[in-house]
Amino acid sequence: MNIHEFQAKKILARYGVRIPKGKEAYSASEAVSAASEIGGEKWVVKAQIHAGGRGKGGGVKVANSIQEVEKISNALLGMQLITHQTGPEGKKVNKIFIEEGINIVSELYIGIVLDRSNEKYVMMASTEGGTEIEVVAAKTPEKIFKVHIDPLIGMQSYQARQLVFKLGLSKTVSNKAVVFILALAKAVEQTDASLVEINPLVITYDDNVLALDAKMNFDDNALYRHKDIESLRDEDEEDPRELEAAKHDLNYISLDGNIGCMVNGAGLAMATMDIIKLEGGSPANFLDVGGGATKERVEQAFKIILSDEKVKAVLINIFGGIMRCDVLAEGVVAAAKNIDISIPLIVRLAGTNVDEGKYILNNSGLDIISADNIGDAAKKVVSSIREP
Ligand code: GDP
Ligand code: MN
Repeated sequence: MNIHEFQAKKILARYGVRIPKGKEAYSASEAVSAASEIGGEKWVVKAQIHAGGRGKGGGVKVANSIQEVEKISNALLGMQLITHQTGPEGKKVNKIFIEEGINIVSELYIGIVLDRSNEKYVMMASTEGGTEIEVVAAKTPEKIFKVHIDPLIGMQSYQARQLVFKLGLSKTVSNKAVVFILALAKAVEQTDASLVEINPLVITYDDNVLALDAKMNFDDNALYRHKDIESLRDEDEEDPRELEAAKHDLNYISLDGNIGCMVNGAGLAMATMDIIKLEGGSPANFLDVGGGATKERVEQAFKIILSDEKVKAVLINIFGGIMRCDVLAEGVVAAAKNIDISIPLIVRLAGTNVDEGKYILNNSGLDIISADNIGDAAKKVVSSIREP
């Protein structure tokens, strides 16, 4: 699960990570009172969306007066913010964060992610903060320093000192950076975060070390023991189809391609996506309707796939074991009843009650292209999109 910058900063502050003074706002008038509460002469107004690159996209603005705070807030709230992480349609800004303006001397990068191949968290630090770390990693990987955190004993002070030494900071700043790093590591471990990214971590004119930006992701499977974090979920930011699917207990994940996939079993779903790719196509989703899916669940799943405008063809690949092909067919027919399906529908059925399933589909009046096996199905669905 992903959360907003202002939420991440609140969590981090509890563990002793230094952050600038700030307050979230949902209207320009709230922003104005937040700014006067914070005080000072300069503020930063930041769009709160679940995507990075807001600075470049125009979602982070400096205000030099309270009037400017109001003006910027009015402009940001309600806007469709486009960044390199939002996709071309952008994301609607429903909340903003008002922060004290910081005078920055330098911008660093600190991140902690789970390194699956090492079965440990890895902390990464770089002097190249503020920019996209992916670019630094690709062009100048030697500028990223890493340490692995032992899960039994946690991040050690000497590791923090080694990392800070490599960043080449002054003595006062180094001491503060070590404290910062240890607090950050503790926050990650204790919240079951799967990622924390501070980009930039800034050094101020008065030698302070602050998190100017903060991004945190959490392991969904650990949320049951962090109810306070789970309550931070912002459904406005989540894929509406994924939310709908979750309500019906469907394992559905939105992807970028244009072939809608309805499959039973996660393994078969993965294999189906692989074969679509092999044929030169691209799946629009991962969907496992589950082993014992009912007609209603199949119906919901099919509706969710069809509600995605990206989808230009649908591939139904079912191997009936516990799942029966006739139940699948009934669900598809029920979903199709009230929807005008104008895209090709390729169906491959095998296993339990396959003849009954085929019979139901063939007599449904639906325009179906049937396939004999998974390879044939993938070929047919990919070519159905290519041909005008
Ligand atoms: P992102 O673009 O979504 O990663 O948003 P950030 O929170 O990282 O902000 C983008 C950039 O805005 C930062 O790298 C800073 O250069 C700048 N910025 C943010 N807050 C302040 C501030 O208080 N003072 C100054 N001078 N610049 C800021
Ligand atoms: Mn940033």
